[in-house]
Amino acid sequence: MLESEAINAERMRADFPILSRKVHGKRLVYLDNAATTQKPQAVIDALVRFYSTYNSNVHRSVHTLGEEATEAYEGSRKKTAEFVGAKPRDLVFVRGTTEAINLVGSAWGEKNVKKGDVIVATKMEHHSNIVPWQQLAKRNGASLKYVGLDTDGTLDLAGFEDLLREAPRLVALTHCSNVLGTVNDVTKLCSMAKMAGATTLVDGAQSVPHMPVDVEEIGSDFYAFSGHKMLGPTGIGALVARKGLLEEMDPFQTGGEMIREVFDDHSTWNDVPYKFEAGTVNIADAIGLGAAVDYLDAIGMERVRDHELRLLDYAFKELASVKGLKIYGPSDTRSRAGVISFNYADVHPHDLATILDEEGIAIRSGHHCAQPLMRWLDVPATSRASFYIYNAHDDVDALKAGIVKAGGLFKV
Ligand SMILES: *Cc1c(COP(=O)(O)O)cnc(C)c1O
Repeated sequence: MLESEAINAERMRADFPILSRKVHGKRLVYLDNAATTQKPQAVIDALVRFYSTYNSNVHRSVHTLGEEATEAYEGSRKKTAEFVGAKPRDLVFVRGTTEAINLVGSAWGEKNVKKGDVIVATKMEHHSNIVPWQQLAKRNGASLKYVGLDTDGTLDLAGFEDLLREAPRLVALTHCSNVLGTVNDVTKLCSMAKMAGATTLVDGAQSVPHMPVDVEEIGSDFYAFSGHKMLGPTGIGALVARKGLLEEMDPFQTGGEMIREVFDDHSTWNDVPYKFEAGTVNIADAIGLGAAVDYLDAIGMERVRDHELRLLDYAFKELASVKGLKIYGPSDTRSRAGVISFNYADVHPHDLATILDEEGIAIRSGHHCAQPLMRWLDVPATSRASFYIYNAHDDVDALKAGIVKAGGLFKV
């Protein structure tokens, strides 16, 4: 594949065994990529190869299998770090975005957030970038405040500036909304927050899989993402910290491997990032994530982004002709990712998703782990279609036909 060539999604589908299965006798049209993505054979093979040829614990054994496993695990850390412009020593493997944010909430937050401090989040955060801060604020006597949104679903910049005047200790915000698709200018927002003296955390769960990301350029203190949303296995993700920051932090979980020495009454800690990887780590899935990174690297993230923007433009054009369908979030597709949340007349999102499932089409319906945002939108739920590299115009056509069919059943 040439670097300049557009992604051929139909051809790419051959790499994903699940996409050849039928659902209710129909071709699977998988449009729930914001929840989790499908896995290419290369990722599945990496897992099988690990368990069938060199399964062993890492960092402990001098035997051949142990060395091979350690090399693959650390190789994966290097690849994953480079993929987002970071150094391996600044990347901690975690279960996913949720665990990464909880790690920061405990290991950084306990020590650094004091009584009376302000933590700033936004109205478009996923619950995993809200609840850990609520809990930290409760424990340490801080308060959590939210940046509101403008009517088009972008951040209210004036409101953000107002909150920065309160000198927050931490600003936690998403790079890309899993509901509205809004892509935030995190480089600018982190620089503003930094100038106000805040530490910054960016939730990259919906950005790292879909566009080029360079944490150095963004300038965030913490950046979190999940493997399963970028073709990798579940149960693995990463927390990337600004250089030197992990060293200053207390451990998250404690036990084996994260220590240097253990005495009867105290212990000393291992070097970073191992200090944050207590116990036996998720070796197989970390290796699987490395294979996913290789797969995405071979395509090129600029092309992934271009492909999704083209698909988004096509979907906007097609869905505009469906009467009664309301799409949430920015109308300018350039400031969006490949996520379309919508409501269709007064058809309940769960009913719509059920009807679409009959057609083999998988979308998500519900609150998308963003209840404060649902309240702001003043809806109980939305339907959501989200794209990835294996989606093409035929998937959008199927979605539109399914919605029109539901419209007929519900007499819209
Ligand atoms: C999925 C998601 C998360 C949570 O990721 P997990 O993999 O479930 O930990 C956090 N933020 C956003 C924006 C997400 O889309």
